[in-house]
Amino acid sequence: AKANGRNDYCFFESEIDQTIQMRKLVEDELRGAIEGDGLELAYQPIVSADGSKVLAVEALVRWRHPVRGLIGPGEFIPIAEERGLIIPLGESVLRRACTTGARWKDLTIAVNLSALHVLQADFVEVVARILEEAGLDPKRLEIELTESVLVEDPVTAERAINRLRDLGVRFALDDFGTGYSSLLYLRRFAFDTIKIDRTFVQDIDASEHASILLTSIVSLGRTLGRTVTAEGVETSEQQKLLQLMGCTQLQGYLFSKPVSPNEIDGMLRTDVLN
Ligand code: C2E
Ligand code: CA
Ligand code: CA
Ligand code: CA
Repeated sequence: AKANGRNDYCFFESEIDQTIQMRKLVEDELRGAIEGDGLELAYQPIVSADGSKVLAVEALVRWRHPVRGLIGPGEFIPIAEERGLIIPLGESVLRRACTTGARWKDLTIAVNLSALHVLQADFVEVVARILEEAGLDPKRLEIELTESVLVEDPVTAERAINRLRDLGVRFALDDFGTGYSSLLYLRRFAFDTIKIDRTFVQDIDASEHASILLTSIVSLGRTLGRTVTAEGVETSEQQKLLQLMGCTQLQGYLFSKPVSPNEIDGMLRTDVLN
């Protein structure tokens, strides 16, 4: 029993050891990808409610790993946040999205930034400098934030948001409805757009409750003068309902998955979504 116990202990220790080594490895690789050219941006169109016009594109980051292939942000954004890499990652994404986006003359470029980023002391200056270097009209940038930033430090967040809004930058409250305090923050902060989380959209054709709830969210947003975008639209049934509810912007696989900049060029040329 004693020997067994010792073996168990050793096994346990070496597993922790491996996990720490793994994390260190991933961290080093991720840092390399951020500093080099290991990250790619895919762009997902945001379209008018009737699906006829591309109004904006959302930049979504991917990691092109030499061995593991393409890795989605759900797998590495949390690591970047935990290991102090989210600031350089966010800056790299913002710079690239603004530079690439400048060529799509009439489109809004939506970029996701982490709460930690917005709370940086030099956040406003960094965004302003990137916009200038990229030659992007600040009115064409929309920064998407989840309510976590507002929960953590509402005073600092509000100051940064208002200063950038003075320059013309727009803000979207992302994943609306999934947090605890969305309603409170919707009233207090000057968001131009609310993005209704796709979990609400998924259920609308199946559940009457879901569709009643969604109708209220959309009309609430409209009453407050916000643009309302629905995410995760996958069926034309969902599109019809959302259009009836008064949603003006839709995003989801029904219209397009996230694609390369060249494919966005193609969509704008042919005016065809697919
Ligand atoms: P999000 O901002 O809510 O982005 C929407 C996610 O839903 C994207 O996943 C998108 O590919 C996916 N999606 C779009 N349409 C549909 C649909 O019709 N059905 C379904 N099932 N999914 C759809 P993705 O690209 O894996 O991104 C996941 C999350 O990672 C994003 O959620 C965002 O929170 C975060 N993220 C992505 N890029 C960045 C970035 O550059 N910086 C930061 N900080 N976070 C990012
Ligand atoms: Ca988003
Ligand atoms: Ca979202
Ligand atoms: Ca999300």
